[in-house]
Amino acid sequence: MMLLAIDLGGTEAKIGLSDGEGRIHKKASAGVSEDGYRTPIVESAIHAAKQFMAEYPCEIRGVAVSACGQIDPESGTVIGTNGRIPHYEGTNIKAAMERAFEKETWVLNDANAALLGECFTGRAKGLKDVILITLGTGVGGGVLSGGRLLGGAGGIAGELGHFTLRADGPACPCGKRGCFEHYASASALVSRCEAASGKSGLNGKIIFREAEKGNPVIQAEVSAWIRDIAEGLTGLIHIFNPEMVLIGGGVSAQEELLIRPLRERILQEAMPRFSEGLRIERALLGNDAGMVGAVRFWLDHQKSACF
Ligand SMILES: [Zn+2]
Repeated sequence: MMLLAIDLGGTEAKIGLSDGEGRIHKKASAGVSEDGYRTPIVESAIHAAKQFMAEYPCEIRGVAVSACGQIDPESGTVIGTNGRIPHYEGTNIKAAMERAFEKETWVLNDANAALLGECFTGRAKGLKDVILITLGTGVGGGVLSGGRLLGGAGGIAGELGHFTLRADGPACPCGKRGCFEHYASASALVSRCEAASGKSGLNGKIIFREAEKGNPVIQAEVSAWIRDIAEGLTGLIHIFNPEMVLIGGGVSAQEELLIRPLRERILQEAMPRFSEGLRIERALLGNDAGMVGAVRFWLDHQKSACF
């Protein structure tokens, strides 16, 4: 028996079939923003998932969803998006999926799902105190403390992109100033490299290639970016005392140019007792992490799991 796993992002939905061990057997992806969001992304995802199920017909036991934005994990409702995706906030994803597939559905935020996924079958398998940040357009994150996902009063804790790193920093879409995300995201790296080099149209690939070739302007910006990520993470390490910090997002593939220098800097900066045994690693599951974590979350809701 399989679970239908859906990772709903702002531009794309990833869809897969998973067994009870978190292995993804078949997968596909579909755009959800192609008509400029005239169709709500949840509807687009359901449509794509139905096509997927027609292609790989099998009996499913439930639907496990990882979704962007702030998600109330109890009701499966989108309770915040910073206004970025039209027709999304307020959607009850759980109810919509249960209507569409007539199977029990559980929904959680995508960064929290990625963290649960890494703890289920990925780099942090079996660990109990883990922080994950994903460096992409923004910064997502999640905190596992004592083996439990830190949810907070409303289930939306772990917005690791939105604490103030610089009080005099620029305004953030969340309404605050100088948020960590503004300094630490992959987009932030691109902006700072473009500003410093006077070039436009840069991306992560070009930037790391230039850094590798020894371009001093780019190298200086990459170093400054890593310093800012380390500064924010060191604060989080002092608060949560994790045994592992995982870095996700496309840029995390840069072991020599990002992960290693970041690890060295954090281990230097954190208070000695906090850096003892601390591991700073690249996340392992890549694009599957959200689906795998959603499956874990679904299984955790089954009182008598009979997989
Ligand atoms: Zn913010």
